Amino acid sequence: MRQSNRVRGRLPAILLAALLALGMAGGAAAEKVTDVGFYFDTVVTLTLYDPADGLMQELWSACDRYEKLLSKTIEGSDVDRINRSGGEAVPVDPETWEILARAEEISEASGRAFSVTIAPVTGLWVFTGEEPYRPTDEEIAAKLPLVDDAKLVLSADGTVSLPEGMEIDLGGIAKGYIADRIAELCKGRVSGAVLNFGGNVYCVGAKPDGSAFNVGIRDPQGEEFSTKAIVTVTDTSVVTSGIYERYFIRDGVWYHHILDPKTGVSSDSDLASATVVCPSSMTADAAATACIVLGREGALELLNRLGLDGALITREGEIAMTDGFAEAYQFRLYPQ
Ligand code: ADP
Ligand code: MG
Repeated sequence: MRQSNRVRGRLPAILLAALLALGMAGGAAAEKVTDVGFYFDTVVTLTLYDPADGLMQELWSACDRYEKLLSKTIEGSDVDRINRSGGEAVPVDPETWEILARAEEISEASGRAFSVTIAPVTGLWVFTGEEPYRPTDEEIAAKLPLVDDAKLVLSADGTVSLPEGMEIDLGGIAKGYIADRIAELCKGRVSGAVLNFGGNVYCVGAKPDGSAFNVGIRDPQGEEFSTKAIVTVTDTSVVTSGIYERYFIRDGVWYHHILDPKTGVSSDSDLASATVVCPSSMTADAAATACIVLGREGALELLNRLGLDGALITREGEIAMTDGFAEAYQFRLYPQ
């Protein structure tokens, strides 16, 4: 993302100096800095309270580096090199390896509902822009045999191999990993932070008054940006996957960007959104995507098996939560 597209929320130095002179900006008042960027096809909003000097810039540099490492569409990224490897083992950055290792665990645990090898099929679909495209059943059938996470080989020497023709897409897990790393960079260098990568939110520390952060869970049935419920969290991430993020309606069918790896078509499960709260945003990200594919019953089972906390909203607007979720995160409907 180009720096010039960024909106700077920091008080202009001159105004800050004036406030300091008036004694209005010193003492307990926290400095809040908000910056907006565009990475990973997503609006990224970073809000830092009392950040260390240069931290914000460091965070954007990290986003830049991760985009260049993990994007499917950037030539020379690790993902691009794996996808063009033609079956050869590819040495990758240890971080890419780590993400793939976790992806494989969630893939297996979810019965392949989460599959990073979905890429040949996601490549057929167009969900955004003026001309969305639903591939033909023949097009999908031709690519489906290439979707098989069991064939992704992660070797102890730090290489990755994938059979010729297969491709990976980290869209369902990478933002979570990046949120974790950005949160880590913030720790001890802010009094608090809210790091928002689209549906992935990481809350670090506390608000200036010492209280925990409130995070909204979107109403899948409501207008864009409308809120269905609120949770309160500290030092953890809240990740929501939803069928309303990228979608189009064709012949009365709601097509969205989370595909069922078994069919190659948008998941038609009973879930409209899945929210997972977990200190590992990477785990939460992959699990939330898997939940949408699995549907309410399978999702609850997966979350319980992995020991994860989650809240699910069905297409009908019903809410299901894992045990203790409501109490742990003060889950409340909004408006109350
Ligand atoms: P978002 O990117 O909107 O936050 P998700 O985390 O749910 O949403 O990821 C959706 C993205 O993951 C898709 O855009 C696609 O790149 C990829 N994807 C789609 N279906 C699957 C799947 N079944 N397993 C793994 N990744 C998927
Ligand atoms: Mg995800």
